[in-house]
Amino acid sequence: MYDVAIMGAGPAGSTVATLLARQGLNVLLADRPDFTGDKVGESLPSAIDRLLWTLNFHPIDQSVHAPISGTDSYWAGDRIQRDYFATAGGSGWRINRTAFEQQLLMQAIESGAQHFQGRLENARLSNHIWQLQMDGGRSVNSRFVIDASGRSAVFARKMTVARIKSPPLVALWALSSLQPKAPSIHGQTLIESQENGWWYAAQLPNRRWLAIFHTNPEQAKIIRRHPSLWHQMLASTKWISRRTPWPDFVSSELHAHDARGSYLVQPYGHQWAACGDSALSFDPISSQGIFNAMASAHMLFKALHSDNQHDQHSGLQQYHLKLNSVAGIYQQRRNWFYQQANRVYQTRFWAEQAVVRCLETVAEDEP
Ligand SMILES: Cc1cc2nc3c(=O)[nH]c(=O)nc-3n(C[C@H](O)[C@H](O)[C@H](O)COP(=O)(O)OP(=O)(O)OC[C@H]3O[C@@H](n4cnc5c(N)ncnc54)[C@H](O)[C@@H]3O)c2cc1C
Repeated sequence: MYDVAIMGAGPAGSTVATLLARQGLNVLLADRPDFTGDKVGESLPSAIDRLLWTLNFHPIDQSVHAPISGTDSYWAGDRIQRDYFATAGGSGWRINRTAFEQQLLMQAIESGAQHFQGRLENARLSNHIWQLQMDGGRSVNSRFVIDASGRSAVFARKMTVARIKSPPLVALWALSSLQPKAPSIHGQTLIESQENGWWYAAQLPNRRWLAIFHTNPEQAKIIRRHPSLWHQMLASTKWISRRTPWPDFVSSELHAHDARGSYLVQPYGHQWAACGDSALSFDPISSQGIFNAMASAHMLFKALHSDNQHDQHSGLQQYHLKLNSVAGIYQQRRNWFYQQANRVYQTRFWAEQAVVRCLETVAEDEP
């Protein structure tokens, strides 16, 4: 019997597992066994250093991850440059995502959490105990469940909690091939808006480049059918093509990822709660997803950190309010970017994205 079973060992799941296990709780950290590919998302804001310090986690390892020197963007016709080395907040980090997550997972295991490879299939509450059916016929009993399964929010879906979503946004991304004689690390984040979406490009610490085109599902469908279109569009960017080795992407595989922001109407319920992307996920324009995943895991830990049931309930209410205020700030900033671009391009993509009251409740069985 576990005190807490956590579904998902991404940044949110590993963070909350470490904090709870350090309190001496019997913690299970489950993740589906079949995921081996690259995960997209590698820019961290400078605030991560302070969060890691507050949590008493290992600091960023500079031999594995690289500092971000700034942003150089061409957005809605204006060039915007920010030099992070010259600002008070300092530089953020371009992480090796696999190494970063592996370190968080190892830390959770060293703190006493039990790592379990299994996908959640079903959940039933009986006599105040959750009976969790995992794939392969295995079952797990736990007093409390934390949904840290990312945007798929597998547990919250089973609880039929509605999710509010921003307008559809698809990220089409590819990694360039490894360059044996790559130039010295290019530390800038490059962003460029176009008529039907926006580009992001950055050099990763492992000498590969990542490029992502964010667009609507209709456009994404066409590009996925003809991946050479993606390469042509990258080559035709005004700004990014001059600063990235775009021909290196020609043989790269194109991947698609849901990138719209969304949040659960109710991020907790009877003997369960959600954190990270499962509770609140951001549009990648924010570059705050991993930070928010870990910060919300910390907030949830603090909310649960009471033996008294009444205190725990009011802690969870406070947690919900904090998530709402984070969502409000994020939404305001996101809308500012999209509205700027909408004034310039006046295309369907930007008009859809720029709607302020864009949140809609989507049926839970939607992929
Ligand atoms: C295109 C794109 C670019 C992004 N760029 C950035 C960026 O530059 N910087 C940034 O900070 N953020 C970025 N993000 C967001 C960032 O990736 C997420 O916010 C972050 O991964 C959230 O962490 P998490 O732990 O909540 O969820 P995840 O990282 O999604 O982890 C969830 C875990 O749950 C597991 N899981 C899923 N289903 C089950 C199941 N049924 N049973 C058990 N386990 C399950 C998964 O295998 C996974 O390991 C980007 C996102 C996108 C889409």
